[in-house]
Amino acid sequence: MRVLLIEDDRALARGIHVALRGEGYTLDWLEDGQSAAHALRCERFDLVLLDLGLPRLDGMALLRELRSQGENAVPVLVLTARDAMEDRIQGLDAGADDYLVKPFDVDELKARIRALLRRSQGRAQPLLEFSGITLDPATQQVHRNAQPVSMTPMEYQLLHQLMIRPGVVVTRERLSSALYGWQDSGPGNTLEVLIHNLRKKLGSELIRTVRGVGYRVEQSR
Ligand code: CA
Repeated sequence: MRVLLIEDDRALARGIHVALRGEGYTLDWLEDGQSAAHALRCERFDLVLLDLGLPRLDGMALLRELRSQGENAVPVLVLTARDAMEDRIQGLDAGADDYLVKPFDVDELKARIRALLRRSQGRAQPLLEFSGITLDPATQQVHRNAQPVSMTPMEYQLLHQLMIRPGVVVTRERLSSALYGWQDSGPGNTLEVLIHNLRKKLGSELIRTVRGVGYRVEQSR
């Protein structure tokens, strides 16, 4: 899952970075509203964490601009130092999906992110289950036929992307964007390597290569 953090407080941004990377999210970070508006026009994110007091374009203006584009329904969680009720109402009315008042607990942040992602994927169920594989976003645990399977954070993330829509091809571009964001994949974490590892752990039938396009998970026969 690729998350865009828009926050000019560097210490806070670093804290969020450590917390979310540990959970296997891909986190891209920008410090001002204008760069963020540009990134949101050009690239695809699964979720946005938005501070309101930002240089160059404030968070509320950015949110209004984003929602005025109509087709961009990316979930937005507002991180605000302002706990005035009026600000919260304005944020929600401008198109935010949820908010947290600083200082907040990182466990609460993680839980709210999971809930927003679940909703944006049209699920009420917290677990993803398909063809004997169960994936739990709250614990990042994967089971195959009720047996735990150990995964690296990158392997987990890739499987998660594929299991959101079983049977549907996910393109290589989309997977790369979700897994690496603006970072480099590094030699040990290329898509091919990760797919190879997942097949070894979960059976060779689960993930099907669609040549020249991408991958999809399939019901094993
Ligand atoms: Ca700020």
